[in-house]
Amino acid sequence: MEELSTYILSIGEPKFRAKQIFKWLHRGVRRFDEMTDLSKPLQAKLDNDAYITTLKIFKRFKSQLDDTVKYLFQLEDGNIIETVAMSYHHGYSICISSQVGCRMGCAFCQSTKNGLVRSLTAGEILDQIIKVQEDLGVRISNIVMMGIGEPLDNFDEVIRFLKNVNNPDGINIGYRHISLSTCGLIPQIDRLAEYELPITLSISLHATNDEKRSQIMPINRKYHIDQLIDACRKYQEQTGRRISFEYAVIDGVNDRYENAKELKDLLKGLLCHVNLIPVNPIEDGVFRPPSRKNILGFQETLIKMGLNATIRRTLGGDISASCGQLRHQASEKEGIGLENHQQ
Ligand code: SAH
Repeated sequence: MEELSTYILSIGEPKFRAKQIFKWLHRGVRRFDEMTDLSKPLQAKLDNDAYITTLKIFKRFKSQLDDTVKYLFQLEDGNIIETVAMSYHHGYSICISSQVGCRMGCAFCQSTKNGLVRSLTAGEILDQIIKVQEDLGVRISNIVMMGIGEPLDNFDEVIRFLKNVNNPDGINIGYRHISLSTCGLIPQIDRLAEYELPITLSISLHATNDEKRSQIMPINRKYHIDQLIDACRKYQEQTGRRISFEYAVIDGVNDRYENAKELKDLLKGLLCHVNLIPVNPIEDGVFRPPSRKNILGFQETLIKMGLNATIRRTLGGDISASCGQLRHQASEKEGIGLENHQQ
C-alpha cells in the first residue's frame, strides 16, 4: 500500500487513488479498465506502467472425506505451487506456499527433494488467498504459512505479504489469525521479532537433541537447538506471544520417553504449545508414523510432564493434501513446474 501510494503521488494523482486500486486488486480484479472508479486516462497510464500478475487454477482436488480442497496453482512462468483450504467449525483456514520448492533439505519433506526453484513475490503469496476465496465463495479467516517453502528464506516478500493481508482495505485478516512456520532460521526470527507483529510463530522442531535434529534437518548443523530455543525465548519476550512447536512424530526416531523428557527440559519456562503431527510418509521415504496408540502415549507423557500437547487432526487424507506431494506428482506425471533450478 505504501509503495502504491508513492507511485500514485509520483504520477501526480491524489493519494486516495492508491486505496481505490488496492481495493480492486484484493477483490480479484486483474484489468485496469475494470477499475471503474478510475478515470480513463489513469487506467491507460496504469496499463502502460504496470502489470498485474495472476495465478491460474491448474488443478483442484476435493476430498471425499471432508471439505478440504487442494489447489495446484500455476504461476505465470509455468511453475506450480500448492495451496490447501480446510473447513473448521470456526471458519476456513488456508495453508499457503511461500516458495517454489525449498532449499532446507529436511529428510522427511517432499517439497525440498528437488531443491529451490525460486521464491514467490508478495503478490503471488496473496493471490492464493484471493483465488481460493473466489473459487469457494467463502471468506478465509485463518492463514497458516505451512505450504511449500521456507517463509523466512523469503523474508522481505513475506513481510510485504503480511502487511497487505492485514490491511483493512485488503483481505483484512488479523495478525492473530496468522501462523508462520519455520525450520529455524535464527537471524530471521530475530528480525521478525523486531516487527512486533502479533502473528503466531511455529517452530518445526521435530527432534529434541542436536544429534537427531541435525540428521533429519540440515539447518540444525548451522543453528543448534539451544540457540534456536534461545531465539524463541527472545521472540517471546519481545512479542509476548505463545510459541507453537511442530513435532512430526516418527516411529523409532523421536517418539521415546527420553525424547519427551528432553522436550520438556528444552521448553522449560516457555509459554508454548506442542503440536504432534504423525509423520506423513513420502515417496521413497524411510519415515513412518508410530501406531495411534504410541502417539497417544507420547502425548500423554508430555501432558503429564506439564506440556500443552495436542495431536494434529488429519484432513484431506485421500488427496495427498500435504507437504508438496501434489506438486511432486504433477511434475513426475506431466513434467511441469520444475524448470529453472537453483540449489
Ligand atoms: N519451511 C517451513 C514451513 C513449511 S513445512 C517449516 O519448516 O516450518 C510445514 C510443516 O510441515 C513443517 O513443520 C514441516 O516440518 C512439516 N512437514 C514436512 N513434511 C512432513 C511430513 N512428511 N510429515 C509431517 N510433517 C511434515
